[in-house]
Amino acid sequence: MKIGIVGLGLIGGSLGFDFRALGHYVLGISRRPSTCEVAQAKGAVDQASSDLSLLATADVIFICTPLEAIEATVKQLIPHIRDTTMLTDVGSVKASVVQKISPLWPRFIGGHPMAGKEATGIEVAQANLFAQKPYVLTPTANTSERVTATITALVADLDADVHQCDPAAHDRAVAWISHLPKMASAGLIAACLSEPEPALLALAQTFASSGFRDTSRVGGGNPELGWMMAKYNRQEVLRTLSAYRQAMDEVTTLIEESDWDALEALFVQTQQARAKFL
Ligand code: NAP
Repeated sequence: MKIGIVGLGLIGGSLGFDFRALGHYVLGISRRPSTCEVAQAKGAVDQASSDLSLLATADVIFICTPLEAIEATVKQLIPHIRDTTMLTDVGSVKASVVQKISPLWPRFIGGHPMAGKEATGIEVAQANLFAQKPYVLTPTANTSERVTATITALVADLDADVHQCDPAAHDRAVAWISHLPKMASAGLIAACLSEPEPALLALAQTFASSGFRDTSRVGGGNPELGWMMAKYNRQEVLRTLSAYRQAMDEVTTLIEESDWDALEALFVQTQQARAKFL
């Protein structure tokens, strides 16, 4: 199959490595010619260009640009591709993307691989990024079965754990386990920086180890991804932040009241519940 990838960054480049390894011919598009050169030199794509006409013969195209650029990218792409070409995207928010792209291109299905890293760009793209990770597809009543079946088969070949759900349900679910953690983790780092004594802050920075590494990882990651999650999934992010603030207030009250039994009971409950998420 000829697979087009628009946006040769972490996700686009990683898809390229895997699809090439599976024997597909990969055509890559990126804005900057230097990104195209690196993608080709690293072997993430067979051919790369900044000119969308390269995708004239693609069977399937993955849009892997930042969320903000998906709609404009599809509009620019349409004059260059065949009627039969199937489109999908990898954006971290689905309802707004599906709402905008479905009317533009009937052979479209929204997608979101639940895999990532702190760093971005083609330099950190890697093979097998999606293996054993959830990959969510969000067909609607108007999505053709052929498109759903083709994209499902392609992402299943990445060894991903493929799931389907409604775009709005996706956004509500990922607000809890992806978007809220980004905000909470960034909030943790920001709170640490509020330490007024420079010498103490330096000491904390020196002592930070595995616990801080785990809890600050997503907050220390791609800033663009964070503000776009908040902008495009605003309502759900606000809903989960409100629940989080309430949970923090409850913890604060238990500590203020020295209610160690209740605090321990809470930690036992969260210790047991964590396994259900991972
Ligand atoms: P990335 O590493 O920054 O890659 C984005 C790519 O898009 C770059 O190659 C860049 O190309 C290109 N690009 C940037 N702005 C553009 C624009 N205005 N128009 C066209 N192309 C543009 O980002 P990423 O982490 O791969 O994320 C890409 C998509 O995957 C996003 O929609 C994100 O929501 C989704 N996603 C990310 C993760 C994650 O953890 N990172 C996980 C799942 C899904 P040039 O270098 O040529 O400018």
